[in-house]
Amino acid sequence: MIRLDSPVQYVKGVGPRRAAMLEKAGIRSAEDLLKYRPFRYEDRTRFRRIKDLLPDQETVVQAEVLVTGFYTTPMKRVRIFEMLVGDGTGSLQVKFFNQVYLDKVFRKGQQVILFGSPKADAYSVGLQLLNPDFEILDTAGEQSIHTGRIVPVYRRIGQLTTKTLRHILFGLLQEMPEPLEDPLPDSLLQKYSFPDRRTSFRLLHFPEVPDKQPLDDFLSALDQARTPFQRRFVFEEFFFFQLGLQVLRRQRELAPKTRQLRLTPQVREAVKKVLPFHPTAAQKRVLKQIVGDLSSPKIMNRLLQGDVGSGKTIVALQAMIVAVENGAQAALMAPTEILAEQHYRTMGSYLSNSPYRLALLTSSVKGKKRTQVLESVRAGETHLLIGTHALIEGRVEFKDLALVVVDEQHRFGVMQRSEFMEKGDRPDTLVMTATPIPRSLALTLYGDLDLSIIDQMPPGRQPVLTLVRKSNERAEVYETVRRELEQGRQAYIVYPLIEQSEKLDLRAATEGAEYLHSEIFPEFQIGLMHGRLKSEEKDNLMTRFKAGEIQVLVSTTVIEVGIDVPNATIMLVEHADRFGLSQLHQLRGRIGRGRDKAICILLTEGFQSREAFERLEIMRRTNNGFKIAEKDLELRGPGEFVGTRQSGLPEFLFGNIVRDRDLLEMARADAESYFRMADEAGEGFDPEALAQLATWWKQRYGLYQVG
Ligand code: ADP
Ligand code: MG
Repeated sequence: MIRLDSPVQYVKGVGPRRAAMLEKAGIRSAEDLLKYRPFRYEDRTRFRRIKDLLPDQETVVQAEVLVTGFYTTPMKRVRIFEMLVGDGTGSLQVKFFNQVYLDKVFRKGQQVILFGSPKADAYSVGLQLLNPDFEILDTAGEQSIHTGRIVPVYRRIGQLTTKTLRHILFGLLQEMPEPLEDPLPDSLLQKYSFPDRRTSFRLLHFPEVPDKQPLDDFLSALDQARTPFQRRFVFEEFFFFQLGLQVLRRQRELAPKTRQLRLTPQVREAVKKVLPFHPTAAQKRVLKQIVGDLSSPKIMNRLLQGDVGSGKTIVALQAMIVAVENGAQAALMAPTEILAEQHYRTMGSYLSNSPYRLALLTSSVKGKKRTQVLESVRAGETHLLIGTHALIEGRVEFKDLALVVVDEQHRFGVMQRSEFMEKGDRPDTLVMTATPIPRSLALTLYGDLDLSIIDQMPPGRQPVLTLVRKSNERAEVYETVRRELEQGRQAYIVYPLIEQSEKLDLRAATEGAEYLHSEIFPEFQIGLMHGRLKSEEKDNLMTRFKAGEIQVLVSTTVIEVGIDVPNATIMLVEHADRFGLSQLHQLRGRIGRGRDKAICILLTEGFQSREAFERLEIMRRTNNGFKIAEKDLELRGPGEFVGTRQSGLPEFLFGNIVRDRDLLEMARADAESYFRMADEAGEGFDPEALAQLATWWKQRYGLYQVG
């Protein structure tokens, strides 16, 4: 008897050789195989008759092979395999390009299934199928598996074709014991009336149209994963993912903190003293949450979200001062050198009258200077260490690291985040992000963190006015920039990734800067900022821009995150249609940071796509980062949204956090209350099951772990 946990090798039709192929796709057990879901379904309940075929409409045809043969086109010498198939109502030409081996695949008299959209061809009568998906039915018995129903189509695994996989799964489903053990608690199965697991697996692979549902409705539900059995698996996956997060969080909470920071009146005083302005109510509230964590016996793992310009930096600094006042150290990690340097400079100026010592560590800090920094950090003479990911390289040792702040967290790979956590004696961790993260994504990416939100802008801010302009309106656009400059304001002019090469991008920016200097704004100082400058050069540029010695900063996208120069009130973005939404929002966040009205001009040559147009429209209509993020997630999908493969976004087999966000919310709530209930009752969660879940979870989603 085969069981869910039987090695896949013992599934009928698999064996050692195929098991090795499956293993490569991560399929080890019968259950893994059952979870190998079809990537689409094909309706083979009603084949279209050849005589009823319409051009350019996707269809499935079942027919007999009548004639096969090869020919080579005279001009381009393409080898074409051609066959004629018929189904009694007519015949159809089928062509495959450059697939010589097909000669050995098709034979006269075979029954074949063909999937594709027929094309009308000017040179021949009737329709043709070009390079269709195909399946050959070898024996009559196969008909019942592969036709006459809605059939699953799988992605090929090694040499296992969709048809082979379908065959194996069909057999496996027959062999599975009845009923199957269900990992979901009964209460939830009932709550959502999910079909049982065995039925769900069967229907997942071989769907059946429910009695009262029209076929087309059902097919489109299948397509969007809205059927009960598909949703069941999505929910199951999300539920255990969320439960795992709860477990991890619990494990971390149980691990004792070596040091609890104290909030004495003296500490309070010190924290207040650094403030150059009155904090907003939101900043106060968030600081209170953070300080609450710092002084609690549990390790802090908190995410601080706040739109660009909402004032996260000062809150982070205050938290760092609490650590330092307690005689410990704090570190701040930023994603770029420019940003690290800026933090170093601003924090340095806020702290100029304090006894605290700051140091900067980036990859440009080299040689003797670097040794000095490393030594003073180890000796505890440096209280606040600010830097880039250079901070998490092996050689940095702290004397007593109590708090780690990670700025613009979304720019870091997850590995880096967790490496940082290993420094010091379980430091408290605050991660900050200015890319507002839609809730569905936050639940997934940061589901084990506590969340603080700064949902209020410092006083006096006005929304940035955003204009979309065609490049033939350039002259007028430059006039607008000039008007700002003449009032003593400053401008950013941003060049995007135009070519797939850093060198060429740099050239665009360089030429742009030269042109502006000689032709457009000769009376103003123009600076050129890009990623290849040495760090002293960047530093120097930023200092001069901040001081107002440079009025126009031409830049590649390196200024995207964090840069803060309130007197810069206008931004011109070249080729704005090539930027993603979140990136535009970040860029635009560089202006409108003071009390003056700011203008952002998005320049475009024209739109490559409807989507590009839509993006700029959204930018024009709203300044709300959360709305923009939701839209961005929708337009680009979670993977792209988060950025890199390293993003740490867990890979789900069934779930899609955009499409299935309702299920994600449900699973989150259910996992929380399930965990809490089992916890309170002191039952349900025997430690072994808990440990098992944690192990499984780490294997499955391992990299992504935070603390
Ligand atoms: P972000 O959240 O994007 O990192 P910053 O921390 O860089 O934003 O703050 C943006 C700007 O707002 C900075 O110039 C900062 O000095 C200013 N700022 C922050 N908080 C306040 C406040 N409560 N009142 C006035 N200005 C503030
Ligand atoms: Mg910031």
